[in-house]
Amino acid sequence: MEVPDETVLFADSGGFDFADDAVDTTPERTLETQRAIGADIFGTVDLPIARENRSAENQRRIEESTRLALTASDLHDGEELLLASVHGYDPETVRNTLRHLERNGDFDGYAVGSMVPIRTDYEKVTKLILAARQATDKHLHVYGLGGIVYQPLLLYLGVDSFDSTAFIRSAGNRNYLIPGFGGEELQNVEELDHLPCSCPVCSSHDYQTIRADRDLLTQHNLWSLVTELRRFRFMAAADEEIESYLDLRFQGNAVTQRAYQIAKQQVRRLT
Ligand SMILES: [Zn+2]
Repeated sequence: MEVPDETVLFADSGGFDFADDAVDTTPERTLETQRAIGADIFGTVDLPIARENRSAENQRRIEESTRLALTASDLHDGEELLLASVHGYDPETVRNTLRHLERNGDFDGYAVGSMVPIRTDYEKVTKLILAARQATDKHLHVYGLGGIVYQPLLLYLGVDSFDSTAFIRSAGNRNYLIPGFGGEELQNVEELDHLPCSCPVCSSHDYQTIRADRDLLTQHNLWSLVTELRRFRFMAAADEEIESYLDLRFQGNAVTQRAYQIAKQQVRRLT
């Protein structure tokens, strides 16, 4: 993808490709592929769980993912970091799975998956992430969540990294992401010379050009996520009260404000 050599590359196993079918790879082959593409961080092969599955099927998938992660741990002998994928729809399962992996494998961190189907259930998502966060001091990654609104929430919950295709999908819907705010569909925006952003895209193109070019919109949306991340880090580094910043950050939207309040209550219960 022609990114600079010093870029850190994390290759997961593409778990959602197996959402309906059997796993069509092995830990051995996945490690080979991850090494061949020059990844610095490897994720283990996993079978995501789904709300509509019977609990016995989800339990089978959780156990299979755990087995695949431990096999990858046994096989992996390189310099690259290895993150074990962890699944579960209740905090106990997430906590117990993670601790089992920690006892029996050799991992540099953990990656919580199966979040996309429950992404709007903020209470559940928050509880699962906090359960994982409490179970380990190692690097914690979350798969599939990380849009402009979710990102500050994940950072607040102590997540170290996340991945999301939100910037691409948003651009596909002509949705313009605005740091500190959220998304706005450009079809709702009429005559305008410039967009309200100083990223390299928006400062060198006018509104109509960006609106008509999905690649430019995708690039801008990625800059928005970066800005949101840097803003949070700045507040933390400046020793600002993070909760006061997030009170302000989420006040514009009732749904996300509620999500943040739920997260705040749970975090305070733990401290
Ligand atoms: Zn921009």
